[in-house]
Amino acid sequence: MGLDAYVPCRCFQNGLTKPAPFELELDVESGHPDLRDHGNSSLWEAYNSWEATACEHEGFDYDGDWMQNWSGVRRFGDIVTTRARTICPNLVGEWAYVGNGGHVPLDVCVVMAAEAEELERVLREDSAWIASEDSGWVLDLIARLRRLLRAAVVAGTALHWC
Ligand SMILES: [Zn+2]
Repeated sequence: MGLDAYVPCRCFQNGLTKPAPFELELDVESGHPDLRDHGNSSLWEAYNSWEATACEHEGFDYDGDWMQNWSGVRRFGDIVTTRARTICPNLVGEWAYVGNGGHVPLDVCVVMAAEAEELERVLREDSAWIASEDSGWVLDLIARLRRLLRAAVVAGTALHWC
C-alpha cells in the first residue's frame, strides 16, 4: 500500500516486442502497450499470454519499486518542502501530486535526479538530522527514487507514479 513508481521499457515503441496477432497501441497514461480494440473481450486472454513473453521485461517495466506508505509520502513532502524547496523545486512540485498518479517527463527526470542527489548531500551533512528518527527511511526513499530516476534517464522514458 502507498506510492509505487515504475519506468516502462520502450521495447514496444522500438519494435522489439514479439509480433502480436492483434492490433496494439501505446497507452500514454501507463507507458505500456495496450489493445487497440478494448471492446473485444475475447482478445484479452490472447493479449495476456502475449504480454507474458513479449519482451525481456516483466509487465513492460524496465524498473520499478515501492516508494513509501501514504503517511511517509506526506511526511517526505513536508521534509522536502521545509528543508529543500529552493534546491529541489521540481521534486517538491512533482511530489505534491504523486497521489494522483501520472508521470514525470524524461527532461524533468534528468533535473530531479540532480535535485535528489543534492538533497541527499545536504541531509547527510546535517548531523542533527542524521541522528533523527526520520533519517533512515528518508535516505532509503531518496536512494530508491534516485535509482528509478537514473533508470528513466537510461531507458529514455518517463517515471510513472502508481
Ligand atoms: Zn521490454
